[in-house]
Formats: sequence, structure tokens, C-alpha cells
Amino acid sequence: MADLEHVRYTEPAAKVARIVLARPEARNAQNVRMLYELNSAFNRAAADDDISVIILAAEGKHFSSGHDLRELDLAGPISEWDPVGTWCGFACAGSEGRMAQEKELYLGLSERWRNIPKPTIAEVQGKVISGGLMLVWPCDLIVASEDAEFADNTVAMGVSGAEFFNHPWELGHRQAKEMLFTSDFIDAETAFRLGMVNHVVPLAELSAYVLDLAERIARKPLFALKLAKEAVNAAQDAGGRTAAMQTAFALHQLCHTHNLVLHGQIVDPSFLSASPVRGVGT
Ligand code: ZN
Repeated sequence: MADLEHVRYTEPAAKVARIVLARPEARNAQNVRMLYELNSAFNRAAADDDISVIILAAEGKHFSSGHDLRELDLAGPISEWDPVGTWCGFACAGSEGRMAQEKELYLGLSERWRNIPKPTIAEVQGKVISGGLMLVWPCDLIVASEDAEFADNTVAMGVSGAEFFNHPWELGHRQAKEMLFTSDFIDAETAFRLGMVNHVVPLAELSAYVLDLAERIARKPLFALKLAKEAVNAAQDAGGRTAAMQTAFALHQLCHTHNLVLHGQIVDPSFLSASPVRGVGT
């Protein structure tokens, strides 16, 4: 694994890997480097037969503010890494390049992490905004601190929802619509009540709670854990999750193209300046 700048990898207990987003000065905004480093760390944990459970945590006050919109050129940074998908044309003009980039970086990576055949646990504090959801939702279990809040503000930017469109499966259809329509934050207790979060604990106890949970799971036979995960994921996908997500991704790309035609950029600039959680998102 190459030297990591934005991610840390440790093994805090037997059979447990802990991956940490380590860019707190940018509220763990995701640039291309962070995403591929995260993928390398997941690969390492997945390939290690001595690891049974993977924790995804974040340094600092907030888990992740979303994609780093200051990184305007994605094609250049992508070319420095090995793509996880076979889609090509990252540097192409117009919708072709943008779709290729997002198919690789956002949908491709998040779906890949969702399908890692070992239990994963997200350890979440502070704000999780749009692209941040695409790190948390692919995990099997989510443990949140009492201050955790979750929002998808992409509609406020003229886009139809984050690329990894798991909203209906996380929240139920009505709450998913309200989250998208309003761009409002969902607090940890509400997320728990809706079934999106497994446990809510005081911030000071978050890491210890998650490690204890990980260790208890890691004592189970790994093959049975893998197959239990596969079975639940198969149940979700039998309900149409994969096809629905592909449709949502196509609609998301239509929004980017619409904004490009109307405004010359992939998000609506008027909504961007008016958004209560501006500066993060798609
Ligand atoms: Zn997008």
C-alpha cells in the first residue's frame, strides 16, 4: 500500500482493522487522493485473512463534509491511480467525462465498499454531508455519537441526490423524499428511529463502543459472517436496489448536464450560494 496522506490504517485489536479519515483540517472533505487511499486501505483489510471486521472512523469534529469541491479537475488526479472500474474517458469533454469520473469515483467506489465480504462498521461523529453519506451508507453497521447529523443538500444545488443513491433503503421512501426535498439535517436519534443507525452513544464513548462491538463480531466464524452479509445484501438487491440506483445515477448525470447547459457549471450557482450547508455536496 502506497504512503497514505489522508487516511490512517491500524489494527487496534485481534482481527479488527480500523481505517481513519485523517483530513480534519478540511472536515474530511473527499478529494480523489483520499478516495483512492481509502480504497487501498479497504483492499488491505479485505485481503488480510487475519482481519474479520473493518471499522471506518474519522479524525476531528466532523466525519465528512462531502466531496472536496475545491478540486475542480478530477481527471488529472484519477490518472495517477488504477481505476476500480472499466469505464474510461475521464478526460473527455462535457457529460462524457463527468459521468465517467463520477461512475468511477462515487458510484463505483461506494458500491465496491458495500460489497466487501467482511463486516464493516462506520463510527460517526459530527456532520455527514452528501458525499459523506457515501462513505457511511456502504458500511454494514453505523454507530453514531449523540452530536452526529446527516444531510444530503444536493437538491439545493440543482441535483437530484448523491450519486450512491441508497436513500430509500436507509430511511424508507417518505423520509428519503423529505431529506432530499428539504436538505435538512437528520439528527442521530431520528436516524436511529428510522433504522439508518444501529446505536447512538455519547461522543466520549464512541470509539470504545465501536471497538467492543467489532471485537464481539470478530470472535464469530469469518465465513459465516461473510455469508450472513451476502445474504442480507442479496435480499436488498432482490428488492431492486441495484437497478434503482443505476436509474438515480443517470438522473443525477442529467442534472449535471442541465446545469452545465444553463449555468456553465455542474451545480446551480444560485442555490449553491443560498444553501445553509454550502461548500459541500455533489
Ligand atoms: Zn455528481
